[in-house]
Amino acid sequence: MKVFVLLHTEQGALPKAALETLNVACGLGMPFSVGILGQGAAAAADAVASCGAVKFETVDTPEVAQPRYASDAAAAAALITSAGAEVIVAPQTSRFARCLPGVASRMGIAVDTHAVSVSAQDGAVKAQRWFYRQRILSSFSRAARPWMLLVDGGVQAPWQGAAGTANAQAVAVAFGEQRTAVTGIRALAADAQTIRPEAALLFVAGAGWTKKQKDGQLHIGRAGGIIQKFLAAAKASLGSSKSLVDLQSEGHETLSFMSHMNQVGQTGSTPRHPKGLSTCCHGEEPHAVGWRFITERRAINLDANCGWAQGKADVVYVGDAFEIMEKVNALLG
Ligand SMILES: Cc1cc2nc3c(=O)[nH]c(=O)nc-3n(C[C@H](O)[C@H](O)[C@H](O)COP(=O)(O)OP(=O)(O)OC[C@H]3O[C@@H](n4cnc5c(N)ncnc54)[C@H](O)[C@@H]3O)c2cc1C
Repeated sequence: MKVFVLLHTEQGALPKAALETLNVACGLGMPFSVGILGQGAAAAADAVASCGAVKFETVDTPEVAQPRYASDAAAAAALITSAGAEVIVAPQTSRFARCLPGVASRMGIAVDTHAVSVSAQDGAVKAQRWFYRQRILSSFSRAARPWMLLVDGGVQAPWQGAAGTANAQAVAVAFGEQRTAVTGIRALAADAQTIRPEAALLFVAGAGWTKKQKDGQLHIGRAGGIIQKFLAAAKASLGSSKSLVDLQSEGHETLSFMSHMNQVGQTGSTPRHPKGLSTCCHGEEPHAVGWRFITERRAINLDANCGWAQGKADVVYVGDAFEIMEKVNALLG
């Protein structure tokens, strides 16, 4: 079986998601080749030269220096054709998630997205992915060839090994007309971006931060200050309960830096940070289900009988989150 690992560079090097996908391919125990597109592709191939690939091919022309559907699709198609691949594994990055389904459709390739594992047994390749909002884990295979699998980031360990000389071959691409010019990237300032998938800690703020406190008053400004100070000091990712983000759409005063994008749970996201700290959040099942991939869970709640205390957290601190987090912030300096 011809296995082909399709990767792209980011700022001149392979991103973590690419190295994770490479590790998946190494774990199959089958011969594989590697194709890399993007700026610095040849140097990126050298960086993974010892991965065991039988061949490295690259596209590193000005057209693929920036992500763009038309040029990325043309480059990916050229690399796939050159490799003559039967099974293609690629990272599910935003760059590839935009162009590879289109490539698959044009080239008649069967494609599956969000694979969390790819394995091989007796020469047969199997994949796993979650369905129904991460409640059902399915193992499946396909007879169709070529078969492309986009591998979710953050699940596998990234490939590690020595750099070397990959002797990567450049593949020629007929790019055709470029109708879209990439003029730059407009991104939020690092501090304004509260969702940080790479952070070591998920900090969840619940609706309790916006409720009347023991003095009978709201302390939303103070709550916002505490949370933002903690996020800046701990470089944590910010999650929220549904009740808190819903307050905004209902026109109530709330934390201005929160949006539905932060919501964790059944109808929100399912982040994968190694640790999580829940504050002023009850830990009801539709919320806690979003914590299924958080390895170590702690919660701060006034209520010793909150949902977290019903076996959903490893540690529950029964106390006032305002006081505790102010103390934590002081300790963090
Ligand atoms: C179909 C469906 C889908 C849903 N999907 C989601 C989802 O994806 N995500 C989600 O989050 N919810 C979801 N929900 C809603 C969920 O059931 C809960 O209503 C919600 O999670 C409650 O949010 P909360 O814990 O922040 O608020 P509350 O239930 O109001 O809890 C506030 C908590 O703060 C504590 N508290 C208050 N002041 C302090 C203080 N000073 N210090 C410490 N603790 C304090 C209180 O003791 C309380 O436990 C869904 C519900 C349904 C029906």
